[in-house]
Amino acid sequence: MSAPRISFVSLGCPKALVDSERIITRLRAEGYELTRSHAGADAVIVNTCGFLDSAKAESLAAIGAALKENGKVIVTGCMGAQPDEIRAVHRDLLAITGPQAYESVVSAVHAAVPPAHDPFVDLVPPEGVKLTPRHYAYLKISEGCNNRCSFCIIPKLRGDLVSRPAADVLREAERLVKACVKELLVISQDTSAYGLDLRYAASEWRGRRVATKFFDLVRELGELGAWVRLHYVYPYPHVDEVVALMAAKGNVLPYLDIPFQHAAPNVLRAMRRPAHQEKTLERIRAWRAVCPDLTIRSTFIVGFPGETEADFEALLVWLAEAKLDRVGAFRYEPVKGAAANDLGLPVVPNEVKARRYARVMERQRAISGANLKCKVGRRVPVIIDAPGPTVAKGRSKADAPEIDGAVYVASRRPLRAGDIVTVKIERSDAYDLHGIAV
Ligand code: SF4
Repeated sequence: MSAPRISFVSLGCPKALVDSERIITRLRAEGYELTRSHAGADAVIVNTCGFLDSAKAESLAAIGAALKENGKVIVTGCMGAQPDEIRAVHRDLLAITGPQAYESVVSAVHAAVPPAHDPFVDLVPPEGVKLTPRHYAYLKISEGCNNRCSFCIIPKLRGDLVSRPAADVLREAERLVKACVKELLVISQDTSAYGLDLRYAASEWRGRRVATKFFDLVRELGELGAWVRLHYVYPYPHVDEVVALMAAKGNVLPYLDIPFQHAAPNVLRAMRRPAHQEKTLERIRAWRAVCPDLTIRSTFIVGFPGETEADFEALLVWLAEAKLDRVGAFRYEPVKGAAANDLGLPVVPNEVKARRYARVMERQRAISGANLKCKVGRRVPVIIDAPGPTVAKGRSKADAPEIDGAVYVASRRPLRAGDIVTVKIERSDAYDLHGIAV
């Protein structure tokens, strides 16, 4: 009897990708096979994103396509926390479950297509099944969030912060490194808050007690032999000691992904952003003094309700001073159920949003281009993502996969995905570097 086959659609952010990997690992362990086409599958799972209305529309379209091509569809993920919205469009679904509801998804699969045999756990490689390329992996250290940013419904969807004990995270990281993962991307909704819910309780790791705390976890991860990249960090004072670690330890990458979202105090207040009272420019200066190679990436929202021209100018001035290396900008989109909708603040018209967005991007293009120019002539380690016949595509320590720029590497010898090579940088453009392997 052939193994039951499941087709899987994974939408949304890296956190959702980690959920997908866990569900797939479990199903593979039970003898299910994955198929690339809906038509040949026994059932389809759609892991949805429900953050913005555009993401919801994409999720609903993916569900529609799965229903049309297959008919047996199980929906999970962030949008699954709002089943009525899904059922209003698609009625004939086998099940709808919310984010991180691994057990419910697996039960729904069992009900639709029973497993062929008893579990054969040895079908699964020890690091689990990964949807990312083999040489890097996302490491989710907590679920949920204690903040209440007014534009965000994630705490409603995913609940308050629940951290994984440090030893648990470290064991997963160790397994990944043993399976040839060269770069660990630490993710959560609020990485610097890690362990707060557990009161930083220590757990046993390699014969020692390690606190469930941001600094302690990063220090231990840095010992595993892979690059460690930190995402979704807020500029709380205790991040300072982690920056010192970056300066001291080669594997803790001098890279911080901090979603600042704005710089004008009254917009940050209306957004109810964590750490909005911190003097972030001073902090960034101090970090760079300790760790001169530090790369800072961030995202910003323009056109938040009540954002005046003066607020927007304050953001541009802040960006000019902060000289962040990487910036992504979004035009504000109201999210159903978010507190920002009830603030009673004036809505920024779409054409103003579009103009502000273009100005931020233009301003930042110049800043990031100038930052990259400073790297010409330097020799930097580069991890190869995509080998090519003459030029391979890779990333330096300053570039996270999928969101940042790339380093294009000319090489006489063949390079493989996951190789880390030293590259002499020969030229730069607005977002990328070009160089030669030495
Ligand atoms: S920090 Fe704010 S934006 Fe991020 S998940 Fe928490 S509430 Fe949402």
